[in-house]
Amino acid sequence: MRFKIPESFRIAGVTHEVRFDPDMALDGRSMGQAGYFRRKVTIASQLCAEEQRSTFVHEALHHIDNLFDTQLKESQLIRLATGVAELIQQLELDEAEELAGMIMERGREA
Ligand SMILES: [Zn+2]
Repeated sequence: MRFKIPESFRIAGVTHEVRFDPDMALDGRSMGQAGYFRRKVTIASQLCAEEQRSTFVHEALHHIDNLFDTQLKESQLIRLATGVAELIQQLELDEAEELAGMIMERGREA
C-alpha cells in the first residue's frame, strides 16, 4: 500500500484526527487504537511505514463500524481490513492529480 496517512479523515461527515504515539507499547496486539469518544486514530510511531498504513486502515474501519453500527467482531474486521488493504493497493493515482500534487510540492519547497 502506498498512500500518505492523512492528518484527519471524515467518516459519515465526522472528522477524525490521526496521531502517532511514540510511547504506544508494541506488545503485538496494540499497534494502534480507535478512540470513539475523541474521534481519533492513534498509531504506534515505532511501526514501519507499511505497518502504520495497515494499522491506519484497521483503526479507520473500527470507526466506520462504530458510526454505521455494523457491529463487526474483531476477527471479521481483521479480514475486512485485509481485503480493503488489497483493494487500496490496486488503486492508481489519477495522473492529472499526481502532476498537480508534484507542482504543489515544488511550490512548497521554493
Ligand atoms: Zn481491531
